[in-house]
Amino acid sequence: MKNNRKMKEQKINANQLYGLMHTDIEGIDGLIELALNIRWSWNHASDELWRQLDSELWEFTRNPWVILQMISRDRLEGHLADPAFRIKLDGLLKKNDQAISMPSWFQHNHPKAALTTIAYFSMEYMLNEALPIYAGGLGNVAGDQLKSASDLGVPVVAVGILYAKGYFRQEIDKYGTQNALFPYNDPGQLPVTPLRLPNGEWLRIKVSMPGHPVWLRAWQVQVGRSKLYLLDSNDAANLPTHRGITDELYGGGTDLRIKQEIILGVGGYKLLRALDIMPEVCHLNEGHAAFLVLERANDFMKENGTSFAEALAVTRAGNLFTTHTAVAAGFDHFSPSSMEYHLGTYAKEQLGLDFNELMALGRANTNNHSESFNMAYLAIRGSGAVNGVSQLHGEVSRNLFNNLFPRWPVAEVPVGHVTNGVHMPCWDSKYADEIWTESCGKDRWRGELDDHSAHISKLSDEKLWEFRDRSRNRLVDFIRGRFERQALVSGLPAEVVEIANQVFDPGTLTLGFARRFVPYKRPDLLLYDPERLVRILTHPEHPVQLVLAGKAPPFDEAGKGLIRKWVRFIQQHNLYKHVLFLSDYDMMLAENLVQGVDVWLNTPRRPWEASGTSGMKVLVNGGLNLSELDGWWAEAYTPEVGWALGDGQEHGNDPAWDAQEAATLYEILEQQVVPEFYARNKKGVSEIWVGRMRKSMATLTPRFSANRTVREYTEDYYLPAAINYKKSAARKGAKGKRIVSAGHELKNKWDAIKFDQVEIESVRQKHHLKVPIWLNGINPKHIQVELFAEGINGETSENLKMKFDWIGEDGAHNFYVQVNSSRPIDHYTVRIVPSYEGVSVPLEDNLIVWQR
Ligand SMILES: *Cc1c(COP(=O)(O)O)cnc(C)c1O
Repeated sequence: MKNNRKMKEQKINANQLYGLMHTDIEGIDGLIELALNIRWSWNHASDELWRQLDSELWEFTRNPWVILQMISRDRLEGHLADPAFRIKLDGLLKKNDQAISMPSWFQHNHPKAALTTIAYFSMEYMLNEALPIYAGGLGNVAGDQLKSASDLGVPVVAVGILYAKGYFRQEIDKYGTQNALFPYNDPGQLPVTPLRLPNGEWLRIKVSMPGHPVWLRAWQVQVGRSKLYLLDSNDAANLPTHRGITDELYGGGTDLRIKQEIILGVGGYKLLRALDIMPEVCHLNEGHAAFLVLERANDFMKENGTSFAEALAVTRAGNLFTTHTAVAAGFDHFSPSSMEYHLGTYAKEQLGLDFNELMALGRANTNNHSESFNMAYLAIRGSGAVNGVSQLHGEVSRNLFNNLFPRWPVAEVPVGHVTNGVHMPCWDSKYADEIWTESCGKDRWRGELDDHSAHISKLSDEKLWEFRDRSRNRLVDFIRGRFERQALVSGLPAEVVEIANQVFDPGTLTLGFARRFVPYKRPDLLLYDPERLVRILTHPEHPVQLVLAGKAPPFDEAGKGLIRKWVRFIQQHNLYKHVLFLSDYDMMLAENLVQGVDVWLNTPRRPWEASGTSGMKVLVNGGLNLSELDGWWAEAYTPEVGWALGDGQEHGNDPAWDAQEAATLYEILEQQVVPEFYARNKKGVSEIWVGRMRKSMATLTPRFSANRTVREYTEDYYLPAAINYKKSAARKGAKGKRIVSAGHELKNKWDAIKFDQVEIESVRQKHHLKVPIWLNGINPKHIQVELFAEGINGETSENLKMKFDWIGEDGAHNFYVQVNSSRPIDHYTVRIVPSYEGVSVPLEDNLIVWQR
C-alpha cells in the first residue's frame, strides 16, 4: 500500500456519506455525528432528541440514522433553526466528545503501556438491532466487549463483515412452524459510513480468489471511542458469484464459509494495513478469524525479509485466540480440496509454503494427508495465548485440544480462561439505571467495580421490591403489545387476538427463557411432564407465567420441532394468559425480557454451554437465575444468589438423567421459587426474595460485567502479548529467527535423548536425585529437566526444576535435585521439555520426553 493512502483520524464529513439527502442544511453535521456514533445504543441521553424529530419512526426503528434518511427537509430545517433544539444538540455533542476523548481506566492505570492497538476479529457483532450482523452469543460477546473497551479507554479496533442480509429473521405461523425471512440490510440505512480516503476515494481491499480477485468495500462504525471496520463483497467490479459472499451470516455450505473466513482474516488484516494500523495484538474471537494468522505473518515477511516460519514465530506472540466451543464438532473444518482450491496459490506464492506445509498448520496429525483443516488448530498454532470463556470451559477446552500436545498431562494443555461478562449499561433498564445511579453513581461501570457493590446492598427492602414490581409491569405491557401484533400477523384465531392485550398479569411471578432452540440447550425440559407444568402455572393462589423466545437454525428440523412443541402446548391447554412464545428473538426482545423477568431459566446439558451470557443480563435488573451448573453459572452460583440444577457432573444425553433433572426443576419451582416469591410480609414484600436480589445484584453484577472481562483481557493477555510481540519483532525479527533455528535443532536431536538410571539417596523424607542424560549434542541451556509427580487427592501436580551439575566421563549430562516430600519416591519421574528464547511451552514448542 502506498503511503499517500494513509488515513488520518478525521471526523465524518457530510459529503463522504452514502445516500443521505440533506447534507447541505446548516447544523446537519452535528446530527450526523450523533446519529453515527452508536453510543446511543447504551447511552440514552439523545433519545428525546430523536423522538422530537420523528416520534413514530423512532418508536419503530430506534435508529437515529434512519430518521435522518427519511425526514423531510422542512422538518429538519425547522428543528435546526430552533434555538432550544440547537442548545440540546450542542450539549449532547459536547458530552459525546468528552466521553470519547477523556482519559479512562486504561489511560490512568497503564499510562506507559507498549500497547497502542488491539485488533479484534469476529465473524459477528451484536451492537444494536439497527445493525443486524449477529446471530447470538458470539456476537453478543464481541459487541459487549467492544462497548466496554470504549468505556475503559482500551485501544481496540474491531474488524468484521457487513452482511447484506445478516442472520435470518423469524416468524412463527399459527401451527408453530418457524419461517426464516431474510430482509435486505440497506447499507444506506445502517449506522455505517463508507471508509473513504482523504481524496474521497472509497477504500477497497483486494483479496485473491481462484479465477478473479475479490474487491471488498470497507465501512466504518463508530462505537463510542472505538471503531468497527466492516468488509463486504457487493462491489460492482466483482464477478456475480463473488458479490454474494457476504450476504448471509452462517448461511450456505463450507465453500461459502471458507470464502467468508478468508475475507475476515486475510481481507481484514489487509484492511488494517491499508489504514496504516499496526496492531501489537490481534484477538481472534473464535477460530473463524484464524486466516489472519497467515496474513499477519505474510505482512511481516514482506516487510522484514524473513521466512514464513520466522514470521510466524514472531507474530504469533501477538495473537490471542479465544475459543467458544465446547464440542469438537463445533470447530470449522475445510477439506484438503477446498483448501487447495482457495488457498493453495496464496500459500505457495505469498507464503512460500507447499500445500502440505499449509495443511499441517490445521491438522492434528501433520502426516495424515486426508485429515481436513481445522481452523481452531490454526488459531492455536498461530497464537501466543489461548483461552476459554469460563472456568469450566477452560477445562473442557484443555481436553478438546489435548491431542495437539501429545504426552503432555491434560492439566498443562495451554488453555486458560477469561469468563465472559456483559456490558451492563446496555442491558440495564431505566429503572435499574435509576437505582444504581442513586446508590453507586454515574460512572460505576467505567473502572474497578468492587467498591460499588457494597452500596447496592444498603437499599431498603421496599425499594428493591418496588423496583421489581415496576420492571415486571413494564414487561407485561411490552409482552401484550408484542403478542397482539404477532397474533394478528400469524393469523391466530379471533378469540386469541381478542385477549392478546390482557395476557399475563403484572403481579404474577414471571419466568423467562430465551435462547437458540437446539437440543443441547434442552428448551423442552420444562415440558417433560406437561400436566405438572400446567398445575404450576395455573395454581389458584400462586400462579406463574412464562415467556419464551428463540430461533432454531433454519435447516434444523429438531430445533424447529422444539419450538412447535411449545406452541402446541400453549394451544392445547389454552394457556395464552400464562405462557407465550414471542417470535424473532433479537437484541431488542432480549433487552425487554431480561429487564422484566423475576427468574431467568437456563437448562443446557453440561458442559455444552461454554459460558452463556443471557443469564448475566438479568443481574443488573434484579432478576434471579435458575440454571444448570454449567458455563458461567457453575462459578457464580451460591445458594444465596439463586438456584442450581444438576450435580456439577457430566451425564451426556442420558434420557434418565434428563428425566431426573426435569423432576428437580419442577421441585425447585414448587418448593422454593414459587413459595418464596409469594411469602409476603405486612408491607407486601417478600423478604427472602429481596435478600437474594440484593446478594445477586451486589456480588454478581460486577463479576459478570464485560468491564471486568475487558480489564482481565487487557492485563492478563493484551499487555503481556504486546511486550512479547515487540521483543520478537525487534531488529527485523531477530528473535523469531533464533526461535526457529533453536526449535529445529531440538526437534532433529530430540528422539535420540537417553536417560540413564536415576540414583536416589534418601534420608527420612529428604531425597537427593541424580540422573545422567545423553543429550545428543543438544545445548543444555535450551531445555529444562524436571522432576514431576502427578497431583493426588485433587491437588495440582508437582514439578521441580533439576539443575545441571557436571558432564560425566561417559559424556552424559548429570542433573540433580533435592526433594522434601512424604510421598513415596516412585511417584516421581523425570521429564525434559524445551526452554529457549522465552517461548511459551508447550504452546509454541510441544516436545516432551519422559524418563518412564
Ligand atoms: C444474550 C443473547 C444471546 C446469548 O445468550 P445465551 O445465554 O448464550 O443463550 C443470544 N441472542 C440474543 C438476542 C441475546 O441477547
